[in-house]
Amino acid sequence: MASEKQAALATAPSDADAPTIFDKIINKEIPSNVVYEDDKVFAFRDINPQAPTHILIIPKVKDGLTGLSKAEKRHFEILGRLLYTAKLIAKQEGLDDGFRVVINDGPKGCQSVYHIHVHLLGGRQMNWPPG
Ligand code: C5P
Repeated sequence: MASEKQAALATAPSDADAPTIFDKIINKEIPSNVVYEDDKVFAFRDINPQAPTHILIIPKVKDGLTGLSKAEKRHFEILGRLLYTAKLIAKQEGLDDGFRVVINDGPKGCQSVYHIHVHLLGGRQMNWPPG
């Protein structure tokens, strides 16, 4: 399987409203291991985990938010909800000693799916700087 970096470099940033694989996951056309869902937010375990806990937290409606660099003022609320949901899930997962949240943006940020998502990683000691 291609590395995450190769996948990111091979993926062209997509149009604001172009569907991605995450739409199929939200609509349950593709199965996923769901850990949280409400009217605005959906969270599921990453298919290629980089830590014992690796969860993706995404808005159900993309609304042009392909990545953080495309954020507009109208996205204030959903951006806050994504981070607050990361905190809730970290608690739910028992990540009481710490965790990491990551938002990859664009090819150099190693983004491969153009539907904004927060990575929640935990269950092991993280390192710094990240790769
Ligand atoms: O930040 P980036 O765009 O690289 O993250 C996309 C993530 O989506 C990857 O960690 C990848 O493993 C995950 N993914 C998934 N299920 C899929 C497709 C991608 O969990 N069907």
